Amino acid sequence: MSGTVFKAVRGDITKLTDVDAIVNAANTSLLGGGGVDGAIHRAAGPGLLEECRTLHGCRTGEARITGAYRLPCQYVIHTPGPVWRGGRYNERELLSSCYRSCLELAVEKGVRRIAFPSISTGVYHFPVEEAAGIAVRTARKFAREHPGKLELVEWALFDDRTWQIYADEMEKSEED
Ligand code: ADP
Repeated sequence: MSGTVFKAVRGDITKLTDVDAIVNAANTSLLGGGGVDGAIHRAAGPGLLEECRTLHGCRTGEARITGAYRLPCQYVIHTPGPVWRGGRYNERELLSSCYRSCLELAVEKGVRRIAFPSISTGVYHFPVEEAAGIAVRTARKFAREHPGKLELVEWALFDDRTWQIYADEMEKSEED
């Protein structure tokens, strides 16, 4: 038992008020984009882009942390997920690495409550069922390996189908 609560909620990640950090499904430039990335930059305001410019990008599967500016949390953790190219280009390992990298940074900064979007399953086309399995298994394993560090790991899912898939996955891999 890790003592960590895992949740899947429906809604806009930029509106969450119960977490210390939200994760951005960024691209490798870290200079903003569409989807959840665009929503996070809009809600945070121009300060976020200014700070992101100083980071000079980030590799797929790695993560970087910034302030959250006008968002109601303390930090944004940016991670470029893999683009799905059929599954033979290390996409699964890279996605798992995104979750681990974000959680490592979180623990380093004392973040105890963190929310993820569904990384890579939008314009990057990672199949949602598989992405949800990787997301939940990776986060559960990380929490077991870091007992007492994380209070809450949640996913904020924008559409019903994605939410249902993460919720099912969470039930299936309930902690023993
Ligand atoms: P990627 O490029 O990693 O595929 P996207 O932003 O295209 O990232 O999509 C990732 C997921 O984020 C999709 O399920 C999309 O519907 C969802 N999404 C878009 N806007 C938001 C938001 N404001 N809050 C939470 N999830 C969002």
